[in-house]
Amino acid sequence: MPVLSKVERMETDICVIGAGPAGMMAAITAAQKSKQVILLESNTTAGRKLLLTGRGRCNLTHTGSIDDFLRAYKPFDRFVRHCIHEFSPEKTLNFFNSRGMSTIAEPGGYVFPKTNRAEDVKKVLTDELKKLNVRILFGKKVNSITKQDNSFIIPLEKSKISARSVIIATGGLSWPKTGSTGDGFGFAKQFGHNIIKPVPALVPLITAEKFCACLAGTGVKNIIISCKIENKKISSAGPMMFTHNGIGGPAVFDFSRTIADIFKKNLPISIDLTADMKIDELDKKLSDCLAQNPRQKIASVLAKFLPKAIAAQICLQENLSETNASQISKKLRTNLIQKLKNFPFTIISPESIERATVTRGGVDTAQIDSKTMQSKLCQAMFFAGEIINVDGPCGGYNLQFAFSSGSLAGKSAVELLEKIA
Ligand SMILES: Cc1cc2nc3c(=O)[nH]c(=O)nc-3n(C[C@H](O)[C@H](O)[C@H](O)COP(=O)(O)OP(=O)(O)OC[C@H]3O[C@@H](n4cnc5c(N)ncnc54)[C@H](O)[C@@H]3O)c2cc1C
Repeated sequence: MPVLSKVERMETDICVIGAGPAGMMAAITAAQKSKQVILLESNTTAGRKLLLTGRGRCNLTHTGSIDDFLRAYKPFDRFVRHCIHEFSPEKTLNFFNSRGMSTIAEPGGYVFPKTNRAEDVKKVLTDELKKLNVRILFGKKVNSITKQDNSFIIPLEKSKISARSVIIATGGLSWPKTGSTGDGFGFAKQFGHNIIKPVPALVPLITAEKFCACLAGTGVKNIIISCKIENKKISSAGPMMFTHNGIGGPAVFDFSRTIADIFKKNLPISIDLTADMKIDELDKKLSDCLAQNPRQKIASVLAKFLPKAIAAQICLQENLSETNASQISKKLRTNLIQKLKNFPFTIISPESIERATVTRGGVDTAQIDSKTMQSKLCQAMFFAGEIINVDGPCGGYNLQFAFSSGSLAGKSAVELLEKIA
């Protein structure tokens, strides 16, 4: 008979699964209220995705009123309302500022650490976990959760955790190399939860137009991207960038989020490349510029309005590459303006979920109590962060939801344990 090694059993009040921003904030909030907390993380460090956020700068929240926030979270605003009120963007800033991390708001309301280092956001969270004696077990991939009597049993390789409450904060499916591989969806399913099909949101779009590859890396500061689906106009504004197989950048990401549930292959869209100017103003400015530079090629004149490579591409498509400014007819100028204001593209598909900034889909919000983040199907099981079917636009909204839902889940788990003690 083989000798079975003794499995160490660890008892705790609360076990948090996933040391991303949501899980760390949940563990901190619960430990602040003097509960014993174990935090399990499959990676060897915490917050791997957090370090990538905002291109390493971490856009941790957004400025604006709570009403502005709720508008941004549509169609999830009703579910998000309570946790955003409970742990507001202001509280997020206080949390980090009072622990020595100053923040700065950029035009447009994007908030970053003053040092521009996502590492500093992570450090505040991990220092706080340490200070509160949260036991973090790294390299511990959770494979299953069961409930026996009133305890959750989480088997690990050589040990077993028994917790009175569990907070699942394992993230979504995007950027799986960071550890977010969708495991939590399986755990939630085991307890009867409905998982809304995960799809990519905030993601680059693949276009039928192959010329995008020649412009990869070239961006425009302010565009409007729009389309019509079922007679409804959908649009987003902001910066964009061409990619090796299509388009990306914040305006495109936000647009991808709006069409995430309704996307149909080969979707015709239009981009206004000169969104800062109304059509009359553009016409006047372009006419003046062409008249002032009669011997210049049209592409050179256009390059005063747009990056050179984009101007050259537009002229190539309009057969104007060799045409001087003085040679342009009114009809050609009108065509050119039409193209600038209404550049047509066909979207073949969004990029894969692996390349999406966030996952749309996850645990159905109808089965989670928005006042506590507790499952409606399983007492003492809580959810926080991107595992929930909630996503926000670019601008710090997704991290704010991770912090707000994490904080509320941690607080509610403590309150429940005190009630049923
Ligand atoms: C490139 C990029 C840039 C982004 N930039 C921004 C930004 O600037 N602002 C913003 O608001 N949002 C941004 N986001 C989105 C934001 O990072 C996420 O919404 C946020 O990290 C979600 O937090 P979370 O804690 O719910 O999940 P995650 O951050 O995904 O953390 C989940 C954790 O759970 C762990 N885990 C998973 N399964 C298991 C398991 N079975 N056992 C143990 N541990 C497990 C994972 O390893 C991971 O550490 C960005 C995302 C990406 C990919």
